[in-house]
Amino acid sequence: MVAHSRRSALVAAAALLGAPAVSRAQGQARLVVVGGGFGGASAARFARLSAPDVAVTLIEPQPRFITCPYGNLVLGGLRDMAAITHGYEGLAARGVRIVQDRAVGIDPVARSVRLGGGTTLGYDRLILSPGVALRWNAIAGYDEAAAEAMPHAWIAGDGAQITLLRRQIAAMPDGGVVALAIPPNPFRCPPGPYERISMIAQYLKRHKPRAKILALDAKERFSKQALFQDAWRALYGGMIEWVPGNVDGRVVRVDARTRMLETELGTRHRADVANVIPPQSAAAIAIEAGLTDRTGWVPVDYRTFEARTAPGIHVIGDANQPGPMPKSGFIANSTAKQAVASALAALRGAPPPEAVYFNTCYSHVGAEYGISIVGIFRPNADGTAVEEDRDAGGTSPRGDLPEQRRLEARYADAWYESITRDMFS
Ligand SMILES: Cc1cc2nc3c(=O)[nH]c(=O)nc-3n(C[C@H](O)[C@H](O)[C@H](O)COP(=O)(O)OP(=O)(O)OC[C@H]3O[C@@H](n4cnc5c(N)ncnc54)[C@H](O)[C@@H]3O)c2cc1C
Repeated sequence: MVAHSRRSALVAAAALLGAPAVSRAQGQARLVVVGGGFGGASAARFARLSAPDVAVTLIEPQPRFITCPYGNLVLGGLRDMAAITHGYEGLAARGVRIVQDRAVGIDPVARSVRLGGGTTLGYDRLILSPGVALRWNAIAGYDEAAAEAMPHAWIAGDGAQITLLRRQIAAMPDGGVVALAIPPNPFRCPPGPYERISMIAQYLKRHKPRAKILALDAKERFSKQALFQDAWRALYGGMIEWVPGNVDGRVVRVDARTRMLETELGTRHRADVANVIPPQSAAAIAIEAGLTDRTGWVPVDYRTFEARTAPGIHVIGDANQPGPMPKSGFIANSTAKQAVASALAALRGAPPPEAVYFNTCYSHVGAEYGISIVGIFRPNADGTAVEEDRDAGGTSPRGDLPEQRRLEARYADAWYESITRDMFS
């Protein structure tokens, strides 16, 4: 709407002066995207495909994007870092202007984004997909320095965290203990910690068969739980011990120097490798821009993903309050398309298109063993909530189904190929 009225105003002014109507270049609508990950890269590409007349700028500090999806397979030795690293050349070739910088401030009234490098970019519509921040010290003693000894590997960044965790697992003695601290809901990728446990077990079974995995969980239940636990028993015997929150699984304090994790009831666990996944919130830029509420996440209109407090700013991916939708790359991609379509409609003064959001989360439990959960979601009439379609979706069946598991591992590979193409090609 803003660009439309801006363009109309320019046209009107030109007519008054008796000059020819403004050219498209002068009146070109500006879509700025902050964050070049699952939500942001998908949005930038989709915007170029669906509205070639709109100027699309993508702001991202990292020169290349490393995906968290398939990062667990790197830990398991089934992929290398190159396989999960993607460049922005494909988006640049599509006409997306890539600005390698960090957004440090947003002015929703002036409609501008301030960059770390000092420049300011104006926008007609802003898509914000900066992902999550880790809540340092929510677990006492777990801060940025502690993460150098007890990696989280939950934000990929430049890849240093995944590489560190992988090295630590490779260097630990046979018979050693890998401990994980797993956060309460909501957090990035509900099945992610359990896929990680599986992939570490898959590696240890081959290389350090006397090692153990101790999973200390803040929760009593988790995504695809029965499927994971069936597979753990079948594939890894007694290697994995999962401790739920109500059986003293909640980690409240860590000591990075001694790699010690202390639970709510005061039990202390010494680990050879400690992977601490702390509680999370929306990334810093969303908080600093005043878009989050007291939950730490951004409330949005589920029809358009516009922030409740800032129309014109569409917040997608893990940073928003997703309702029953998981914080997944799949949802970030699916909602990116609705956010872009809504932004473009608004620029033309049209209503947003009807919305439906899709999710499939595959998990590798073994090299040839995949499981999945599917969900389909729709916003309600006024965009205040999103509802899951109970007649569609569900999880893989339980039981001894080796061919189904083998196929799902391959479907997962195909999903990864196709979503990264939908983001970067
Ligand atoms: C171990 C693990 C496994 C996972 N596996 C799966 C899976 O199999 N399937 C699935 O669907 N999902 C999976 N996920 C979840 C998925 O990674 C996230 O849901 C997805 O990345 C969210 O997309 P996003 O755009 O919100 O954030 P991201 O993809 O993290 O992108 C955010 C981008 O914003 C940039 N950024 C941050 N702040 C700024 C700023 N101020 N200015 C400019 N740029 C900024 C960051 O550098 C980053 O590139 C997994 C996650 C983990 C941790």
